[in-house]
Amino acid sequence: MSISNNLSEIKKKIHKAAENCGRDPQTIKLVAVSKRHSTASIKEAMTAGHFLFGENYIQEAIKKREEIGDRAQFHFIGHVQSNKAKQAAEIFSMVETVDRYKLARALNNHLNKLNKTLDILVQVNIGNDPRKSGIVPEKTTELLENIATLPNINPLGLMTIPPLSKKREDARLHFKNLRYLAEDLASRKLFSDNNSVELSMGMTQDFTIAIEEGATIVRVGTAIFGERPPLP
Ligand SMILES: *Cc1c(COP(=O)(O)O)cnc(C)c1O
Repeated sequence: MSISNNLSEIKKKIHKAAENCGRDPQTIKLVAVSKRHSTASIKEAMTAGHFLFGENYIQEAIKKREEIGDRAQFHFIGHVQSNKAKQAAEIFSMVETVDRYKLARALNNHLNKLNKTLDILVQVNIGNDPRKSGIVPEKTTELLENIATLPNINPLGLMTIPPLSKKREDARLHFKNLRYLAEDLASRKLFSDNNSVELSMGMTQDFTIAIEEGATIVRVGTAIFGERPPLP
């Protein structure tokens, strides 16, 4: 199957999953996760009319941005070291993986110099999985209260990667819990827009479940671009 076919299949499934649970399909954004795939693959997706991509490695994203220009937008979905905050502030339209104040503050400093604001999500380790990054749910209120003091950062919602499991239904409880947490934080007015909070959850194996549980952003890689090449 071609990237173009895969994209239209995924978009159909998103549409159907949304309609099945009475949601407006327009409220769900697809981040095509292009990490470790070539710039040519991204260009193929762009030819098919898709312009939003997800990358996990800063250096790789910088190179791709140089090759593609700013016709496409990139979300950062990997672990950001604070010493890479400058590059992250420059090239991404959203950083989905803010999980500590030190990083938010470093981003804010660079954004201030660039005279820019940046949309971010707080990454939550919703399953308390020791192998996953993200802040534990109990500490999200404090982190968002601190982020509220940073004028160049717009906290739009939450992102999560549930614990790895062979059964796709296992993710549902974690997705539900992320939504409950977001509702609680919104009731405390901790997001930029508390009436419309972004929830980034769901990947190739479970994005339809995530949509049923309220995802507004799904991050799909393998089902669009195929198996990822191994790390160099
Ligand atoms: C790689 C990755 C994805 C995409 O995973 P697939 O299973 O290939 O769809 C989504 N989110 C994050 C954070 C990732 O690192």
